[in-house]
Order: sequence, then C-alpha cells, then structure tokens
Amino acid sequence: MKQPIFLDNAATTRTDREVIEAMSPWLDENYGSPATLYTLGAQSKQAIEEARQQVGDLIGADSKDVYFTSGATESNNWAIKGVADAREEQGRHIITSVAEHHSILMPCKFLEKKGWEVTWLPVDGEGVVDPGSVASVIRDDTVLVTLAHANHEIGTIQPVADIARITRERGVAFHVNAAQGVGHVPLDVQELGCDLLSLSAHKFYGPKGAGALYARRGTRITPLIHGGAQEKKRRAGTQNVAGIVGLGKAAELARRNLEAEAKRLTGLRDYLMESIEGKFEDIRLNGHRTNRLPNNVNYSIEGIEGESIMLSLSYPTADDARPVYISTGSACVSGTLEPSHILLALGVPAELAHGSVRVTMSRETNREDIDYLVKALYEVTERLRSMSPVYKRGSKKCATGSAEGCDCEAAS
Ligand SMILES: *Cc1c(COP(=O)(O)O)cnc(C)c1O
Repeated sequence: MKQPIFLDNAATTRTDREVIEAMSPWLDENYGSPATLYTLGAQSKQAIEEARQQVGDLIGADSKDVYFTSGATESNNWAIKGVADAREEQGRHIITSVAEHHSILMPCKFLEKKGWEVTWLPVDGEGVVDPGSVASVIRDDTVLVTLAHANHEIGTIQPVADIARITRERGVAFHVNAAQGVGHVPLDVQELGCDLLSLSAHKFYGPKGAGALYARRGTRITPLIHGGAQEKKRRAGTQNVAGIVGLGKAAELARRNLEAEAKRLTGLRDYLMESIEGKFEDIRLNGHRTNRLPNNVNYSIEGIEGESIMLSLSYPTADDARPVYISTGSACVSGTLEPSHILLALGVPAELAHGSVRVTMSRETNREDIDYLVKALYEVTERLRSMSPVYKRGSKKCATGSAEGCDCEAAS
C-alpha cells in the first residue's frame, strides 16, 4: 500500500517520536509507583511533577491547579458531575450548548435524568454561542456553565473570555472543554478567565489515555474517582506515569513552536479552502470562515454521502493511489448514520449534513498533501454525483459562504 495521508487529526494525532522516547524509561526500568518513598518510586513522583509543570506552562496555569486524568472524556465528566455535586446546595441548574462533544452532552443528560435542569443554548449559523445568551439564562440556582473552546467538528472558536467575564460576575463556575485547542493555539487560563479546563494528550501528539483537568484554586469540585490519596486526594488511582510524562513532553514541544505552527497551518487551511471553493460547485463551508482552528476545514458537499466519500478515499482502487483518511459528519458513535447534531444545530439541512467532510491537518501536513486530497476528493465527488439520483448541478442549495440563491434556510 502507498503511504497514506492522514487528515483526521481532530480524532487523534500520531505520537511524536520525542514523546515516545521520553515515555519509554517509565514503562521500562523506572517502574516504581509514585506513591512509594524509595528511590524507584520517588523518581516516578518527580517525573509526574515535572510533567505537571510542563502542562501548567502550556496553559498559563499554576502547576498546583493541574490534575492528571485519563483524557478529556474523564476531565469533562469530572468537571460537570464534580461541580454539580459540590454545589448542589446552591442549585441544580447547568448551562451548555446544543453543539458540544458527546463527553459533555452525555454527562449533562445523565444529570438531567437525576433531576438537574440543563439549559441547551443554541449556536448561530457558524457555530458561535452568543455571550449575551449565556447572561440571559443564568439564574440564582445556576452552578455551572460548560462550553467548548473550539468545536471538534467545525473548528469554530468560542468567545470564551467574554463568557468568563459574565460567569465570574454572577458567581457561576465556568468549565471550558479545550481538547481541540490546547497545543494548537495559544491558550492561557488567566486570559480566558475560566475556572476549569479539560485537555487531552493525544490531540496534540501525545499518547492516548492521558489528559488533565485544570481547576483554579478554590473551585469546589467533588472527586469522580474515590480511593487512594493520589492527585491531592482528588483523583484516586496509581498515576499513568508514562502517559503523564508523554503528556508533559507533548506540552513542552507544542509550546516551543506554537505560534509559528499555528500560522503555518492557518496558511495551509486557507489554501485548502481556496482550492476547494475554486474547484467544487454546490458546497457549503461549515463553521466560521476565519475564527476557526488553524487545522480544521469542514464542507458539506451536495448530492453525496460523507460516508461514501470517506470510504472511497480510504480504499482507493488504483494501485498507485494513496489512501487519504478524513472524517465525515455522518459517522456516528452508535454506527447508525444519523447526521451530526452539530451540523444540524448550525441549521444545515439533514440531507446536506449527510454529505459533510472534515479535514484536520497536523504538523506533518504539507501543500502536496493538500493538493493530493483536493484532486482525490474531486474525482470521488464527481463519480458519486454522476451516480446520484438526486443531485442536480448548480441547484444552488448551498452557495458557498453566502445565503444568496440558497434554499438551505427554507429547508431547515
Ligand atoms: C477528543 C475530544 C474529547 C475526548 O478526549 P479523549 O481524551 O479522547 O477522551 C473531548 N472533547 C473534544 C472536543 C475532543 O476533541
């Protein structure tokens, strides 16, 4: 098989060589438990504290406020259920949006079943939550607002700092799911003004199964996992030493080159958008045009199924073709082909949401990869459209970036 082109980096990234090398001794000769006092254990403890400092440095946090977890799913569950439990006496009302990741959506639904009230804020056509709408739904019994920093499907970045000013004034805890942004764009918890922030190592070239929750000093939060005294008695269980060391290393590497790499990817992203929009008819850009992650592009392509595009690109028939891995807005965790709840929340009609593709780039992505993708994507699109019984060229269902002549709105 020809070398694949991996353009699904919002799902996961390839672990950096330097990260693997940093982790290796902690799986091998340095196997001591960080809870023990002899040298072998003390070394592990020290390695964890070093990583805590590296993660703190990346997000502008005091390292004492960084707690290691198994990833962003756990951090999100902990933030939501932990604050809900700790502040139950103050009230049982939480605010989030309709366009969140499942690891936010499901814990909120879980609490709803237990009698909590959740306000699901809408997003606009580009996926932005209006800070004014947050202000207008905060009540005396609201204890938590939880929102993503950047959306994992459409890349739209939220006005987190504006929302934080509101939550702070009203005495409501503010949790930010920053799994997509950390390590990719400059993020500073002091500037954002949030109380809690989730991050995940494997989204920025670290290992899978390692992450952290930042909790500003004084934020009341009940542990999710009870047991030993690890992580200052807030998250029990022997730490994943190698994973944590890998997370720390990934944080250090990201910090070293953050702004230059964000700039490079922004250029590549805009080049990809220009290439697609110059070549394709009847497509719709999903998410904000400029206020989006540097590595994220998402389009709905009329008349075809995202799933078919994804599979055709992954398994090209020509011997000399390279597989290209992307993601689609209709791939669902349950294996059913429900269109993405995020695209529907933007007002994308269901049939158009089905034809959505997400391309997410990495440190390794270059211009040739993008040219290859655009060519392959175009060929597949033309082939699938020629077989489509519903597609009519130029029907203007979704004029790019404009509502002119577009019956999307009417259809939604
Ligand atoms: C990947 C991701 C998660 C889940 O992170 P894991 O570490 O894989 O549990 C949560 N939220 C967002 C926005 C993500 O991109």
